[in-house]
Amino acid sequence: MESALTARDRVGVQDFVLLENYNSEVAFIDNLRRRFRENLIYTYIGSVLVSVNPYKDLEIYSKAQMERYRGVSFYEISPHIYALSDNTYRAMRTERKDQCILISGESGAGKTEASKKILLYYTVTCPTGDHMAALGERLLQSNPVLEAFGNAKTLRNDNSSRFGKYMDVQFDFKGVPVGGHILNYLLEKSRVVHQNHGERNFHIFYQLLEGGDDDLLKSLELERNPQNYNYLVKVSINDKNSWKTVMNALLVIGFVEEEVQNLMNIIGGILHLGNTQFGEGEEGETYVTNEDQILTLEKVSRAKLTAKGEEMISPLNFEQTLSARDALAKSVYRRTFNWLVEKINQSLAQKVMQKFKDSTEKISLSLGFEQFCINYCNEKLQQLFIELTLQYEQEEYETEGITVQYFDNKIICELIEEKHKGIISIMNEECLRPGETCDASFLEKMEDSIGGHPHFVTHKLANGKTRRVMSREEFRLLHYAGEVSYNVNGETILKQNEGLCPKRSHDHVFVIQASTQFKNSLMKLMEILMSKEPSYVRCIKPNDSKQPGKFDEVLVRHQVKYLGLMENLRVRRAGFAYRRRFEAFLQRYKPLCPETWPNWNGCLSDGVSTLVEHLGYTPEEYKLGRSKIFIRFPKTLFTTEDALEA
Ligand code: ATP
Ligand code: MG
Repeated sequence: MESALTARDRVGVQDFVLLENYNSEVAFIDNLRRRFRENLIYTYIGSVLVSVNPYKDLEIYSKAQMERYRGVSFYEISPHIYALSDNTYRAMRTERKDQCILISGESGAGKTEASKKILLYYTVTCPTGDHMAALGERLLQSNPVLEAFGNAKTLRNDNSSRFGKYMDVQFDFKGVPVGGHILNYLLEKSRVVHQNHGERNFHIFYQLLEGGDDDLLKSLELERNPQNYNYLVKVSINDKNSWKTVMNALLVIGFVEEEVQNLMNIIGGILHLGNTQFGEGEEGETYVTNEDQILTLEKVSRAKLTAKGEEMISPLNFEQTLSARDALAKSVYRRTFNWLVEKINQSLAQKVMQKFKDSTEKISLSLGFEQFCINYCNEKLQQLFIELTLQYEQEEYETEGITVQYFDNKIICELIEEKHKGIISIMNEECLRPGETCDASFLEKMEDSIGGHPHFVTHKLANGKTRRVMSREEFRLLHYAGEVSYNVNGETILKQNEGLCPKRSHDHVFVIQASTQFKNSLMKLMEILMSKEPSYVRCIKPNDSKQPGKFDEVLVRHQVKYLGLMENLRVRRAGFAYRRRFEAFLQRYKPLCPETWPNWNGCLSDGVSTLVEHLGYTPEEYKLGRSKIFIRFPKTLFTTEDALEA
């Protein structure tokens, strides 16, 4: 028979706080690996849930599993996303405070899957008011729709979210979910017109071609083969079935037939638009090459794109024409996506009694302007994590004379957003200057105001020499997660992405406004999040090849580092791993002590005190606060739990 010790050796510890050597990154990763091998993908760092993507279906999400986690505290059973969901729900109900769950991790780490599991947990386990029975279903069905239009296959993830999502679920005073709201930001619309090698356009295009019935395709004058469309590349991933799922989801959410037809008109229209060919005239002007193409434009205008013939013969040169065509496609797609989210929100909107859970997801996009915004967003989320978790705990422990070192990324946030001399503000200023382009001056201006900043790098060295490995159009930011290069030259990036370039052309002005807008909406989001009680899910990707069972240590170590998990653990270890209200503690463990069983009639604090003295807790192991008992080591709690089972 296996002894308890070897079992623990095999499966590791379920809370990193229990690691003997909590300062050792090696021990940390070793523990993750052991658990991963046993299909134990969840581990706590105190109240933070660390999750490692298994890349295979585990049978741990059933309804029976949900029942196991209802009303149960962390530590009482093995770590699970359901435990976090349930604890958050109960905290909302008992403390009457808005909660938020922040899910972070790199592309393919499992953020979207985690958010779906949380949503599923609530829709299955929360009480339903009779009149609201359908809300849960609508909430769940919003996922396939948003994923069809907002997700795509990338090199890193076959179902990568190419937009940021923040979702509210509202509950009434009885704990019944009564409404939902989705905030989307930063759709990677450049993907509509261009995809990197091995990647695809948004799923919906392929789903339509593969799954749409013959009549529909005929009415849209589309052919099945994606290869016939300039905006598409052919890489199949069972799009036929997904099409059915999406169509059904649209129905559940409440889209009427005409709206679905219009949606498909637009999707088809974009494909036709991408196929328009242009010729170049003697004076550099551009024209539509043949009759068919004019017909194509008519097809496009079916989607009410108002692309009239004469507008297309405007004196743009060839490049400009292609660029204008693509800009139109991107803009139509973005608006359609926003409209879709708006429609979903109308369907989810209900009378708001009490707000509750939010889940935000971060996304990472290919290089360019959008990449800059996404990295900035991640930077802000990390800052929020630091402020709410590390700093908060630190303050609490300072009275005890304990300090913990951690890297505060505030300095990078300031570098980007500071008034007058932050990168965004320099971008804004540059855009106001007259002149054709200002790439070089943008870089110079940045060098003037932030050159020498420890997190900002250009080709210029402090001693006036030049860093040869860097181009003159590039700058690098040392984000907390690693170094990223940005190119200020719109020309090279424009074709693929929007480019981080404050150039005076059409698209780029847009960029400036977008960055300020993004900064503002991010600030707003941060404010909302700050006002809530946060919980964290930190997702880790075990390998780059989407394979089950493969644990790439180098890759994992990198993520452990930039997610700040070691710092997190140190802070947790420095303090109390577990805290629980007196009544809850007493209620659970009172059978272990003759004086508290079956009922304790005195004051709660004395009851807890009597109980833990009987259990033999040493003063080192715990402290009593005003309303809660603080226990330093989970080990103490495990022993008590074991006694309960014996
Ligand atoms: P992105 O930032 O690109 O949107 P993400 O963090 O949202 O990435 P997901 O789409 O959630 O990543 O996960 C990628 C894939 O990993 C999923 O499609 C699924 O195949 C697998 N996966 C993630 N989490 C789980 C899980 N808990 N169980 C089984 N498979 C999972
Ligand atoms: Mg995702």
